[in-house]
Parts: sequence; structure tokens; C-alpha cells
Amino acid sequence: MVKYVFVTGGVLSSVGKGIVTSSIGKMLQARGLRVTAVKIDPYVNVDAGTMNPYMHGEVYVTDDGGETDLDLGWYERFLDLNLKKENNITTGMVYKAVIEKERRGDFLGRCVQIVPHVTNEIKEHIRRVASNSKVDVVLTEVGGTVGDIEGLPFLEAIRQMRLEEGYENTLYVHVALVPILDVTKEMKTKPLQHSVNELRRIGIQPDIIVARCSEKIDAETLRKIALFGTIPENAVFCSHNVESIYQVPLILDEQGMGEFICKRLGFSERKPNFEEWQKFVDAILNPRYEVKIALVGKYAGLADSYVSMNEALRHAGAECKTRVRISYIEAETFEKNPDKVQTLKDFDGIFIPYGFGPRGTEGKIMAIKFARENGIPFLGICYGFQLAVIEFARNVCGLEGANSTEINPNTPHPVIDLMPEQRGIEYKGATMRLGAHKILVKPGTTAYTLYKSGEIYERHRHRFEVNLDYADKLEKGGLVFSGKSPDGRRMEILELPTHFFFFASQFHGEFKSRPGKPDPEYYGLVKACLDKKLGKTKPEF
Ligand code: GLN
Repeated sequence: MVKYVFVTGGVLSSVGKGIVTSSIGKMLQARGLRVTAVKIDPYVNVDAGTMNPYMHGEVYVTDDGGETDLDLGWYERFLDLNLKKENNITTGMVYKAVIEKERRGDFLGRCVQIVPHVTNEIKEHIRRVASNSKVDVVLTEVGGTVGDIEGLPFLEAIRQMRLEEGYENTLYVHVALVPILDVTKEMKTKPLQHSVNELRRIGIQPDIIVARCSEKIDAETLRKIALFGTIPENAVFCSHNVESIYQVPLILDEQGMGEFICKRLGFSERKPNFEEWQKFVDAILNPRYEVKIALVGKYAGLADSYVSMNEALRHAGAECKTRVRISYIEAETFEKNPDKVQTLKDFDGIFIPYGFGPRGTEGKIMAIKFARENGIPFLGICYGFQLAVIEFARNVCGLEGANSTEINPNTPHPVIDLMPEQRGIEYKGATMRLGAHKILVKPGTTAYTLYKSGEIYERHRHRFEVNLDYADKLEKGGLVFSGKSPDGRRMEILELPTHFFFFASQFHGEFKSRPGKPDPEYYGLVKACLDKKLGKTKPEF
């Protein structure tokens, strides 16, 4: 019998539901239970792929090519899972399925309604994930805030699931903010009380309340929350600010949350084992060294735009006992003021992330040139890979005006061009080259040293690639394509053997990075930064 845990949020969004959901999963895993997690996003987009990362944070990519909400990234990192497209449900996806059924005639003769047809579709989807993933517990996080119009059908669906699955098999967790007033330093629980009331109005009485607060909440306030929430005092937990996000499962478990959930769902009592997790957290909290990395990007104003990259750098840092300090730099600052590029010499490494469209690309190319010419460790991901090719074509191979046709369709040297199968595609949704694809790694290269294998699978999300007509020219200039698709037609990894560490990939290693199991290319960058700083003549991987 599968058990269902539902997580809702109150007061405001970005309150940390994703981390609480992941932490619940971790507490259950630490007790030997198998879990999976589903994120519900009440927006009408069918998937996150068509949304601007600057508004909504990065688009996370699953092995099977799903373009999903970034919370799936937190689930994968905390729970070491490889989730699927189906682990993200959106309003657009649900309605699309219902409308397709209606057109097919599945509901012939009936009026199709939100209740029961849309709510049935939602419940079926959650149950499908449960049966496909063969787990003990399915965690379902409802995005947005209780009270949002878009969220109502989803809350109604999870309300019905209690009736159908039974009290002992379902659990509602409500995560809400407890703000502290600036002037009086008082913790205010009223907004939380209102959000619990709102939830009850729709027929859901939470079993657990997680109060999110910048400080530790005192016993008195916790009692008040329990009283107004109509739950026992031992069902209120506090998620206060901690130095590292990876501490959250530990602080919640210390308060008894893991034990409470297990008991409530009827699992036998078991002692949790957090040994590996604790080791990783200790490594994050007690670094011996520090490196500074400049992330030169286009969405630098919102840290969530690069969250997986950020975390991948931290995982790599923990492996090297190194604190990674990341500075987000808007690429356009270099275009406006070219002298500013010199400030990059204060960094141990330069990192160019993913991106789309022309804005900021010349600034990123300036940063790549600076890294190449000054021997500063460099890692480029996806667009970062493509821009490194452009920089090399222009400044080493003498191909003046070389560019990507995404940036300049009339470039004399289209070293990066649309993939042939992308021509003629008009629909923007889910049509990039997506998900995990096989890559052959050339023996004797830095890539081979890092991946320790001649064959890897990495996740992709792109429309453009290295133009084969230029591959030879680039290699003659000294660039090595050390990873390629099995047919040899797609360039996947590049490196510069004469440089301390100059490495880039068409794929996104960050999506497979996990605490305690850093991704090889991110590890490569951080280790190279550290070894260079320690005065070594080459990185010791
Ligand atoms: N804009 C580039 C492309 O579509 C790179 C995409 C990316 O960085 N994810 O190929």
C-alpha cells in the first residue's frame, strides 16, 4: 500500500516548500523507506520549458527530456533519484489530457467539468507515478500559495485522495512563513493562522505545520501555532535559517518530524541513518580552502536562474574541502566597459553558464578570451561551450566574425549552427534536443581522466551545435573535441590541452551532480582552481 504525503504552502511563495518536501523524503529514506516526489505547478504552461528563467528560475531537465520546475532538481539532489517528466504536473498538462479525452469521445454524452473530470485526471496522474515508481511513499508538493485561484483544482484533488486512500495512508503538511517585525523583533503568526484557515475552508485540515522563520521559534509561539492550527504541539516544526540548505533534513529530524511522520503513516519505528548526509554537511560547513569563481551570465540578478550550477559547484567544493565563493556578473557590464574584464584576474576560475539569444554574448566571449589568455581555469556549459568555440574560431583560428547563427544569422563563419533536425520546427514547446544522450569520451584526454569512462550519458537542452564544416579547422588550431556523439557528428566536450584547465560541454553536467557525488566537469573546475591557487603546475584529478 502506497502512502501519500501532500505539502502545501501558505503566506507567500518561495517559502521553502521544495526544500521541506525534499527533507521529508530524506528523513524517510534515512529510515530505509523508498520515496518519490511529484511537483504540481498550477500555471497553464504545459511545461516549464517556455518560461523565462529570470522570472521563474532555471528549467530543470530530466533524463527522459522533461523540462520541469527547478524543485525536481532539489528532489533529485536530496534523494539521489532520477525522476521523469511525469514527476511534474501542470495545469496545462492536465487540461491538455482532459481535452484530448473529450475530443476522442471518452466522455461522450456528458458535460466535462473541473470536478470530477479535471480532479480525476490529477488523481490518476499522482497514482500513476506511485505505481510506476514502486515506492513506499509519494510526496506531492502543490506549488503556489493556498488561496490562489489556479491551485484550487489541485487542492480539491488532494482533499479527495484522503477519502479514497484513507486517513492512515495520507498526510497533509502545511509550510507557512512566520515573519519577524523589523522594529519590535516580534514573531507574527497571524498570516500563518490565516493560511491554515484558508486551507480548512477548502476542506483540508493539516496534520503537520512547518513554520518557516528566519530565527528559531520559541516554545510559546510554537504552542500558539498548534492551538490555532488545531494540531498537537508535537506536530509543529520550525524550519529556521541555516548556513547550508542541506542541514534542513537534520534540523527537522532533530525536532522529531521524521519519527512523527513514520508513526502517523503506520511504519514501524526505525532509527534513522544520516551518516553519509552528515559527512557531506560537515564537509560543506568546515572547508579548509576557498576559491572564488566568476559566473558571467545573463540572468545574474536571480540566483535561482542558475541553481543547479550553483549546487554542482558546492558539491564539487565539498569534495575538495573547499568553499566556493561565486560572484554573479552581468555579461553586459564588459560590453559597456571593456576595462572591467581585467577584474576577472581576481578570480580563481571563470564559469560561463547556459543561455539563449544575443544579449550579453559578446561580454561572455570577452570573459572566455581573458580566461584562455591568462591561464585561468575555465568551464563553459552549453551556451558557454558554444561561445568558447566562437572565441577560439575568431581569436585563434583567425575566422573573423565567426558566430552562432542564433546570434548573427548572417555571420561569414557560422561555427555554431542550428541542428539539421531543428530546421522547420515551428512549435517552441519541448522541441529542443532534450534529455540524456550517449557520449563517447576520447581516451588520453582530460575528459577521460575526469569521467574515468569512455562512455557517458548526459542531459541536454539545446537547438544549436558545432557546425561540422568547421570542426577540423578548430582542431587544427589546437582545440580538442574530447567527447562526441556515437556517430561522431555532434561535438559534446571541448578542451585545450595547452591550458591549465579549459573545459566545456554541450551538455549540462549540473543536473546529475549530487551531494557526495559531484559531477566530473564541475569537480574538474573547482579542483583546478584549488590546485592552481596552491601553486601546482597542473591539476591533480
Ligand atoms: N542557446 C543555445 C542553444 O539553443 C544554448 C542553449 C543552452 O545554453 N541551454 O543551442
